Amino acid sequence: MKSPHETHFATLAIHAAYDAKQNQGALTPPIHVSSTYAFDTVEQGGAAFQGENDRFIYARLGSPSQQILEQRLAQLEQAEAALATASGMGAITATMWSMVKPGDEIIADLSLYGCTFSFLEHGLKSFGIKITYLNLSDPQNLVDHISDQTKLVYSETPSNPNMRLIDIEALSLICHQHDCKLMIDNTYCTPYLQNPLTLGADLVVHSATKYLGGHGDLIAGIVAGSHADIDHIRMFGLKDMTGAVISGFDVSLLLRGLKTLHVRMDRHCENAQKVAEYLNQSTHVKHTFYPGLENFPQKNLAAKQMRDTGGMIAFELNASREQSAQFVNSLKMILCAVSLGDAETLIQHPASMTHSTYTEEELLAHLISPTLIRLSVGLEHIDDIIADIHQAFESVFDAASGNCFSDNGLAISA
Ligand SMILES: *Cc1c(COP(=O)(O)O)cnc(C)c1O
Repeated sequence: MKSPHETHFATLAIHAAYDAKQNQGALTPPIHVSSTYAFDTVEQGGAAFQGENDRFIYARLGSPSQQILEQRLAQLEQAEAALATASGMGAITATMWSMVKPGDEIIADLSLYGCTFSFLEHGLKSFGIKITYLNLSDPQNLVDHISDQTKLVYSETPSNPNMRLIDIEALSLICHQHDCKLMIDNTYCTPYLQNPLTLGADLVVHSATKYLGGHGDLIAGIVAGSHADIDHIRMFGLKDMTGAVISGFDVSLLLRGLKTLHVRMDRHCENAQKVAEYLNQSTHVKHTFYPGLENFPQKNLAAKQMRDTGGMIAFELNASREQSAQFVNSLKMILCAVSLGDAETLIQHPASMTHSTYTEEELLAHLISPTLIRLSVGLEHIDDIIADIHQAFESVFDAASGNCFSDNGLAISA
């Protein structure tokens, strides 16, 4: 992948927006902990407040090391500008507060990160914003519904937790006929695998807690887009509405995580492909949803807009809801935890955990099966990941059915 400056992704992830030689040779940018910034004169301070110079003012508006992170991520997402926040939800909420007013409509896809759904459903809705959920995997549903009232269309792709894709380019064309912005949550892919802005989206958000940080040791968020939008989100959504400011220490951890993003993502993809193939041929699995599988329903769309197929898998067991939970409980190395994108393989049961605020009807309406399991494939040795899944299948299903199983989990005879 090439940036506008023809420097490759891996090089940008390590070098963009920082020159050690300009910083006393320090390979790693300093951590800025200052809450406020001194001016030479009142007039200089006044000009800073008017946006007439680029002096730092106060850490809720940014800091020098945060600026390095933001400029680096803007380059990786091929955006004009980016803003770092204290969490993914900080980025999503600051952006949405900045983009709509009472009476406007947001159209969101049916499948959403649980807290994003809560923010729309229990937050923005009560402030007079109309929220409509559509299956955006079929762009015709957006054509049929969008109106001049619609100011924002929001989707993840692949979606959490069920791995449905939406066609970013197709949706952006529809939005732009209606003076409406398209906002994409790119957490699952990271800019290494997918750049929504180059496909026509207006805003891209990340939970940087996940792959961008990559080590499970920070909470952070990113939003990237045009200079005008990012300035507005910084000076209103973040400064006045959420105050969800990233700390200097988390900026430093995130810059460190980014340096290995491309290397980690390659291994996440390689491991996930093998785990998905294993699950797909197991008699214990009803459906495996992974863009790298031949039977993935949106395989062509994945090939069109993603550079590789990612580290996330969703699957449904040939089992009851109780047995699905029992399977997760039987894993020995793989950890039962929310979050994703870490070195450790993490697994969770959305109906019981991340999406437990949904009623039974909401789960069905939002296409989340009660037996669906979400797997974030980590960086451990592939044989150890598969062996753990295999022994958990054996412990749940061999005991239950008395069937005879071969080494690879396939039934030899019933
Ligand atoms: C985790 C996550 C979020 C929320 O991010 P936080 O950093 O936890 O606030 C939003 N969207 C997706 C897809 C996520 O996985």
